[in-house]
Amino acid sequence: MGDYDKREKLKEFYLKIRGCQECELSRSRTKFVFGSGSAYAPVMFVGEAPGKNEDLQGLPFVGQAGKLLDELLDSIGFDRSEVFIANVLKCRPPGNRDPRIEEINTCKSYLLEQIKIIDPKIICTLGKISTQLLLNTDKGINTLRGKVFKVDSRIIMPINHPAAVLYTPSRMEILKQDFQKIKRLIDSDSEVPACEEDILNLESETTGDKQNKGEQLGLF
Ligand code: URA
Repeated sequence: MGDYDKREKLKEFYLKIRGCQECELSRSRTKFVFGSGSAYAPVMFVGEAPGKNEDLQGLPFVGQAGKLLDELLDSIGFDRSEVFIANVLKCRPPGNRDPRIEEINTCKSYLLEQIKIIDPKIICTLGKISTQLLLNTDKGINTLRGKVFKVDSRIIMPINHPAAVLYTPSRMEILKQDFQKIKRLIDSDSEVPACEEDILNLESETTGDKQNKGEQLGLF
């Protein structure tokens, strides 16, 4: 798909789903938060769900966590308009409660279609919810962060959620280092990135993990 086609397709998809009423979150939302950025981004960042500010503005990561994300992007020479930022849920859970399994299951096809259209080289999952969804695992973010997974010839790299790091500043240095690794992955020309030893086999990493997934999805 050419870049122009991707842009058109993504826009078309947005227009198709922006009025979504598939779950009860549609009744409490102010705005549907589709995601923002470039349709031909080399890297996609996937968070959890819109918060208060995102719900009001209809844009992802515009609060404090978004400010940190912008700074981290800047540290690797990117503006948010050059990447694509999305969430697992497109509507805000009231009071920022954890997304429910049924909400994730209802909404996930939207994220998967966005990934299909944009077809980024790298997906960076922010925190536990998007990591567990896209790696199909129940392993925690502390086990998975900073590792690089190859799934369907795409790279998935989980990192800590910026909001979690704002609560636990001691993790900031790790997050900064993970962004440097993302930069190296983006810059790597070859199919297999430079940090090859970190590429793990998803099957062996996640075997047997699916069972309890339902109960184990929580915040970050
Ligand atoms: N946290 C998220 O996971 N997504 C946002 O858009 C904002 C905060």
